[in-house]
Amino acid sequence: MSFSYTNAVDLAAGIAAGDFSAREVATSFLDRIAETDDQLNAFLAVDVSGALATADAIDAARARGEALGPLAGVPVAVKDVLTTKGLPTTCGSKMLEGWIPAYDATVTANLRNAGAVIIGKTNMDEFAMGSSTENSAFGPTRNPWDAGRIPGGSSGGSAVAVAARQAPLSIGTDTGGSIRQPAAMTGVVGVKPTYGGVSCYGLVALASSLDQAGPFATTVADAAMLHAVMAGHDPRDSTSIDAPVPPVVQAAANPDVKGMRIGVVKQLTGEGFQREVREHFQESLDALADAGAEIVEVSCPHFEYALAAYYLILPSEASSNLAKFDAMRYGLRVGDDGDRSVEQVMALTREAGFGPEVKRRIMLGTYALSSGYYDAYYGQAQKVRTLIANDFAAAFSQADVLATPTAPTTAFPLGEKVDDPLSMYLQDIATIPANLAGIPGMSVPVGLDDQGLPIGLQFMAPAMADDRLYVAGGALEAAIGWEARP
Ligand code: GLN
Repeated sequence: MSFSYTNAVDLAAGIAAGDFSAREVATSFLDRIAETDDQLNAFLAVDVSGALATADAIDAARARGEALGPLAGVPVAVKDVLTTKGLPTTCGSKMLEGWIPAYDATVTANLRNAGAVIIGKTNMDEFAMGSSTENSAFGPTRNPWDAGRIPGGSSGGSAVAVAARQAPLSIGTDTGGSIRQPAAMTGVVGVKPTYGGVSCYGLVALASSLDQAGPFATTVADAAMLHAVMAGHDPRDSTSIDAPVPPVVQAAANPDVKGMRIGVVKQLTGEGFQREVREHFQESLDALADAGAEIVEVSCPHFEYALAAYYLILPSEASSNLAKFDAMRYGLRVGDDGDRSVEQVMALTREAGFGPEVKRRIMLGTYALSSGYYDAYYGQAQKVRTLIANDFAAAFSQADVLATPTAPTTAFPLGEKVDDPLSMYLQDIATIPANLAGIPGMSVPVGLDDQGLPIGLQFMAPAMADDRLYVAGGALEAAIGWEARP
């Protein structure tokens, strides 16, 4: 490397100043991917020619003295659930293998407009269902801290790309924790913005009332830079909020927690969390208190029903969203030999194209939505959702941000939970409430457990107060001075 890579903010500044070229930067990350990805399997597609062409265009624009975008020349890896014109988008599923979208997701377009170099598409649990990236149809991604362990999920490939320095930045999506939990497992920063803060146009939907795309980065300031580029109102997404993007970059640049009230959620700190996770959580709170924050305890009594409500709402929405993969319009088609009916071809295709976790959720969701059960399951779950939102509203009357451990444990061995869906689902016990209420959350790396595996702390803030996450996260990062590097 002829440049010294520290973080994405410095990388962007160095390219803009001409200290090094976008091509050198792209080449160095492409080399790193080539060296490491046989083992890690973080990428489903690497766009060598596209990345170099974009980098060359940035270098040429700079040479002509043109104004450069905020991410000019900075490589970004994109989760394979967001459409990328001309580059495959599989959602980690055989159902979409070989599909090349004809259009860019708004997030993808925003990256291109900011000058980012889209370096490739990252591995994920099939249709974003999972917490370990073991549900990918294309093999699991491995954790760079210990290749025998999972990287978290469902955005495991994006988390690993950043943790293993295959890309300085990446994009994930979070429906119940899929950015924050893998960020915690791999020792990077991950942010789920406010629901509606980032456009879902071109995001292949899992559960439309919960999905949100967000950034992964090695520092809080890097995450803010990417967040600001991704976010903003989009008339093509009816859930997109028509309001200015919260001032996340400014917040990250001035992370002062003096007087900030940080609420510790009583229900999410107990014995269910691994000992080192609890210890590092407490040390982090002490560090924030030393930096001037006021630590208060808050109670969210309905959080104990969050997981149950989520596993009714998510499968219901997923079963409906995935109905479009019917062998007629997209991707895979099996058994269409002229003798079979449309229904038979659909059935054979869905049998062959979807993996076991996806089938499990389609069945659960179809059942929860069926007439006679709708009110008892989906309807009840929606009421629980309101109670959880009310818990948050009460908590935010006592605190500016809330804090919990991000995940109950550190990264577990590959294979450990594949036959135990409930224990896999419990990974998201602390992250799901934010999705149900539509509020933003961030995971910040805070240290390692006794086996040398990363631990994350989660902050949550009221809707459209994403900037508070960056104040708290930036202050914590500065206070504990810990940079994770496998
Ligand atoms: N692990 C959770 C699930 O399996 C969350 C997934 C996500 O956020 N996409 O549903």
